[in-house]
Amino acid sequence: MSDQVLDRVNDQVLDDTSLVRLRGVRKRFGPLEVLKGIDMDVREGEVTCLLGPSGSGKSTLLRCINHLESINGGKIYVDGELVGYREKNGELYEMHPRAVAKQRRKIGMVFQRFNLFPHKTSIENIMEAPLGVARRPRAEVRKEAFELLEKVGLSEWANHYPAQLSGGQQQRIAIARALAMKPKIMLFDEPTSALDPELVGDVLEVMRDLAQAGTTMVVVTHEIGFARSAADTVVFMDDGVVVESGSPDDVFDNPQSDRTKGFLDSVL
Ligand code: ADP
Ligand code: MG
Repeated sequence: MSDQVLDRVNDQVLDDTSLVRLRGVRKRFGPLEVLKGIDMDVREGEVTCLLGPSGSGKSTLLRCINHLESINGGKIYVDGELVGYREKNGELYEMHPRAVAKQRRKIGMVFQRFNLFPHKTSIENIMEAPLGVARRPRAEVRKEAFELLEKVGLSEWANHYPAQLSGGQQQRIAIARALAMKPKIMLFDEPTSALDPELVGDVLEVMRDLAQAGTTMVVVTHEIGFARSAADTVVFMDDGVVVESGSPDDVFDNPQSDRTKGFLDSVL
């Protein structure tokens, strides 16, 4: 196990309404510093949309939140728990992989590519983690999986294999699969950017429904329309820093930074 000691940051006053809290998060790949001290709060029941140019560090940030990447400084808390590290005598050490796996159950993630198990049907994909990881009773898991299929509008497709589904349908199954573990928070990394344009709407509609139902979400997206209607907070990142954040109206209609203005001009 790699006992990696992190830079220490001053503990801030804990805001107990935030489900995800990042303080001074730094991430390097070799000499390249990709996250340069990120502070972010996501409150329970809120949707945060993360925008920024390609290479600004958005995917890396999401991957750090569920510890798919280790960090080189700062702290990340999910649901009040330090993610990926334990603290001992004021130093931080990387957690045992089993403890990390347990933390990850609280966090659902949907990627740009749907990465369903190709040899499993829709319903089997959704049931896989609750059965295999959480070891819950099959009948109960099956019932919930059908409810999830209904939620994403794919009740008729329970026994189809991924190759028999459109990209948009596969992505909705991927969302249902992430929801099956009843995560506290859902992370989406450009969930519609690999889809044909005519398939984007159905996926965004499922995400809008989740938002309206009070799901806590962090969504990396270039879909400004979605961000406007669903986000409580919009965060604009560039070159490893948060350039500005605020309500959709603030950020889209009255951007403060030239970098934000330039980016919005390029995508709107
Ligand atoms: P975004 O999602 O905003 O496009 P990323 O987080 O994917 O940005 O990448 C940020 C920067 O980090 C880019 O310069 C990218 O090349 C680099 N990067 C991402 N992952 C790795 C990795 N595993 N190894 C080395 N460099 C990486
Ligand atoms: Mg990315």
